[in-house]
Amino acid sequence: MYYLKCGHCPEMSAIKSEYITFCDHCGKKFPLTYADWKAQRPDGTLNVFGQERGISEERYQAIMKKRRRNRFDLRGKAALITGIVVLITCGTLSAFYGPELVKIFRAPKVAPTMLEMNNWRTFRGNILRIQSPLSLSPATVADAPNMRRKTFKGGSYADGLVIRMDETVYLSDAHIELDAAAADATRVMEKTIGVSKFSYKTRELSLNGEKALLQQGSYILRENSPLEFNSLVVVRGGSRVQLLVTHPANDETGRKVAEKIMRSAVMN
Ligand SMILES: [Zn+2]
Repeated sequence: MYYLKCGHCPEMSAIKSEYITFCDHCGKKFPLTYADWKAQRPDGTLNVFGQERGISEERYQAIMKKRRRNRFDLRGKAALITGIVVLITCGTLSAFYGPELVKIFRAPKVAPTMLEMNNWRTFRGNILRIQSPLSLSPATVADAPNMRRKTFKGGSYADGLVIRMDETVYLSDAHIELDAAAADATRVMEKTIGVSKFSYKTRELSLNGEKALLQQGSYILRENSPLEFNSLVVVRGGSRVQLLVTHPANDETGRKVAEKIMRSAVMN
C-alpha cells in the first residue's frame, strides 16, 4: 500500500483506489490526484503513481512510529511537570496547614501544658471571675426572648478544651431562682442540635458565701464525639452566669483542667 500526503494538513491517506481525490483527514483536495497524473501518463498504473508520488508502507509506518514516540514524550513530560507541581503544592500546603490538618484528623485531647497554672490568666466577667489557661474573647450569641446575652469563649473543639462564660440578663425578672436558672442552662445544652445521650448530676457549692450549682455530665456530639462538661451556675438579681468547660470524655488532663477552672471561680 502507498500513501498520499495531503497539501493542507500533515496527514497521509492510503491510495486505496484510482478515485482518490480528497484527504481522509481534512477533506481537502490533494494537490495531485491520480486522475490528474493519469492524464499526463496514460500508460501509468495506480501502483506506479504510488511509487512515484506516494509514500511507501515502510516509510509510512516509520513516520507514524516517530509521531507516536514524540507524542508519548510530550505526554511523559506533561505528566512529569504535573507531578512536580502537585508535589510542590502538597509540600507547601502541608508546611502551612500541616499542624492544623493533624489537629483535625487526630482525636482532640487536652494538652498537659494547660495544667501549668503559672501560664493562666484571670478572666473577669460581670459577676464571676475565673483563672483560665485560655484567653476568652466575646462570641456572638442570639438574644432569646426577654433575655440579653453576652458570651465569652476560649479554645475550640480541635484544642480539646472549650471554656465559655455566658451572662444572661432576664429582662422581665428582677430576681431569679438559682435552681430554675441552672435547669434552664442545661436544658439549652440538651436541646442543642447534634447533642444526644445528655446526662448530668448537680451539686451545691458555696462561692465566697454565695450559693452556686455545679453540674457535671456528659453527652455525645454529632453521634461520634463523646464529651464531658462542668457547668457552674450562679445568679445575682435578674442575672445568671454559666461557666461551662467542655473536654473530650475520659480525658484525664481535661478533667483536671476543668476542675482547676471550676475551683478558681469567685464572685466579684
Ligand atoms: Zn488533509
